[in-house]
Amino acid sequence: MSADLHVHTSFSDGTCSPEEVVTLAKKNGISKIAITDHDVVDGIDPARKKGEELGVEVIPGIEFTTEAQDTELHILGYFINHSDPKLLEAIGRMQKGREKRIYKICEKLKSLGVELDPEKVFAIAGHRAAGRPHVARALIEAGYVRDMREAFNRYLDFHGPAYVSHYKLSPEEAVKMVAAAGGVAVFGHPAVSNCDEIIPDLMVAGLRGIEAYYSGHDQGQTQHYLNLAKKYGLLVTGGTDYHGTRSGREIDLGTITVPDEAVEKLRAASHEHLRGN
Ligand code: AMP
Ligand code: ZN
Ligand code: FE
Ligand code: FE
Repeated sequence: MSADLHVHTSFSDGTCSPEEVVTLAKKNGISKIAITDHDVVDGIDPARKKGEELGVEVIPGIEFTTEAQDTELHILGYFINHSDPKLLEAIGRMQKGREKRIYKICEKLKSLGVELDPEKVFAIAGHRAAGRPHVARALIEAGYVRDMREAFNRYLDFHGPAYVSHYKLSPEEAVKMVAAAGGVAVFGHPAVSNCDEIIPDLMVAGLRGIEAYYSGHDQGQTQHYLNLAKKYGLLVTGGTDYHGTRSGREIDLGTITVPDEAVEKLRAASHEHLRGN
């Protein structure tokens, strides 16, 4: 039995509903998945309901977008209490920031000669956690770019001309927020952020794991992070970062997994927290 611990739904920028990702997990022979939407937890309950029906364990998770040292870091949280009031309050602030940001991105695009109606972006996002992938899809629909890659390369990348920042936690704040909500904080796809030097500071804040197995990591990077996990005594997690069939990413749900023992270690770590250790 195996687990894919990095899955997005249509409540952030995935293209499949929570019910669809659980159904797909079942079809692909995956016994456990974690729902890790960007800065939002609304996909967890509907996924759990479907999981109970199909016999797939759904682990409540989140993926916080954070920023430090002029780069983006993603902090995953597992076994969070997704009705924690402080967590929900922070999420609310982030969602408001994301909404305002879409208008600002459209203004920047306009100054670059690209007319994009923010309402088109919200329609694609379904008024949920609007983000750059939704802007990218709107740009494709309007015929300004051919695909997601071109949308990001020409306009939306972190250092691109239409990039706009939004309210984010610092990585340390995200780690603390996950721990305070009873969860286990994990550094997501660390090779993408390329700032290993931050790991000791994140551990002081309460970081417990590292996502060594990841769709965007090559073998050398995976080995490097397995070594770092061992050196620092961090748990190892992994997953596909599944975003759905129409997301422009080819990876299928469940093609990168960790064994059940990895999930049990995360579960035990979340229980340690409850005991106040
Ligand atoms: P946001 O949270 O709105 O800033 O959007 C970030 C999301 O955009 C990431 O989590 C990815 O899902 C997606 N993304 C970032 N860079 C790229 C890229 N170069 N190509 C395709 N998708 C990307
Ligand atoms: Zn995403
Ligand atoms: Fe991520
Ligand atoms: Fe992700």
